[in-house]
Amino acid sequence: RSLAALKPVVFRTYATAVGPHALVFLEHRGGVIDSGSLSALAAAEKLGGQVTGLVVGSADEVTAVLPKAQKLKGLTGLLHASSPQYAPALPETVSPLLEKILSDGSPFTHVVSAHSASAKALLPRVAAKLDVPAVSDITSLEHDASSNSTTFTRPIYAGNAIATVVAGSSIPLKFFTVRSTAFKAVAADGSEVEAKSVEPAEVSGPVTEHVRTELTKSDRPELGSASRIVSGGRALKDAQTFNATLEPLADALGAAIGASRAAVDAGYADNSLQVGQTGKVVAPELYVALGISGAIQHLAGMKDSKLIVAVNKDPDAPIFQVADVGLVADLFEVVPELVEKIKQ
Ligand code: FAD
Repeated sequence: RSLAALKPVVFRTYATAVGPHALVFLEHRGGVIDSGSLSALAAAEKLGGQVTGLVVGSADEVTAVLPKAQKLKGLTGLLHASSPQYAPALPETVSPLLEKILSDGSPFTHVVSAHSASAKALLPRVAAKLDVPAVSDITSLEHDASSNSTTFTRPIYAGNAIATVVAGSSIPLKFFTVRSTAFKAVAADGSEVEAKSVEPAEVSGPVTEHVRTELTKSDRPELGSASRIVSGGRALKDAQTFNATLEPLADALGAAIGASRAAVDAGYADNSLQVGQTGKVVAPELYVALGISGAIQHLAGMKDSKLIVAVNKDPDAPIFQVADVGLVADLFEVVPELVEKIKQ
């Protein structure tokens, strides 16, 4: 090809000589840092270098969350940017800020976030602008400082295969999102780090307008971070039976309630409760599957649970292949009995 046909290439410089330095996007709501971001921070720590957090929001939000962020274990630095345009922090408005922070002279080698709905739209957007790839939903990582390459694993095909992805030295800035169930959230009892303010970046062009946020209100633990989950499937017949059967058991165990997609599609449960490939990925200490067959798409969301208990009438149901404790029985007989026993 003629020289004239070649696209001009913009070279950016990133510091790599002093070891890894991760920038972790810390999401928050109501003055509380999301547990997914705490797991992302744990993953960033594994790189073995410096870890700087980034808090973005309105002035009130940042004021509320900053003292907690400063004490997160593993952080060596903290940046914050506040502006009304970051309430809420949409990928469209935050990406110019992230791009600015990562521009020439930036000390960062890695950009990290939870694999949340918002951050998984933010990181690839900025990575594409900076002409580097992004690795999503990682479950483990290893960084080799001598070759400046990071090796990740990430589940593919609904968790039926694990891909190993190497971001080598030719990628100066490595973006990745973290599956929160794969990394234990860091605690907020570290020594306080200094927080530095960053000027908000101008957002040009038409941006997405935030209309409203509708949060599901529940007194139960949040499904994504609950240590115990009781889930129901199609066998639960209808919404009333679903609630009447699962709620006493969830109450007795102090558990969150989950559902299979069949139960959600049939209207027994809200879709915020769906566990699986197209729902939430969970890994609680205890997962109780009631009247759930164990389709691969459901297993993709719960098979990493520490203890799986399954009740199903069908002895050949695939759920028994991943269950630690399996009961071939009618759940409508077993569950009330179980509730009584737990109460005793
Ligand atoms: P069924 O498969 O109908 O199983 C019901 C079970 O209840 C049976 O095993 C039966 O033996 C048992 N049973 C019946 N009566 C009783 C009783 N009285 N006592 C005890 N046991 C009883 N599914 C998900 O769950 N999550 C997802 O995220 C998801 N994503 C999907 C994405 C794609 C692209 C596709 C194609 C599918 C997806 N699915 C997902 C759907 C999935 O394939 C299954 O259809 C679904 O998980 C089945 O739900 P179920 O186990 O409740 O129902």
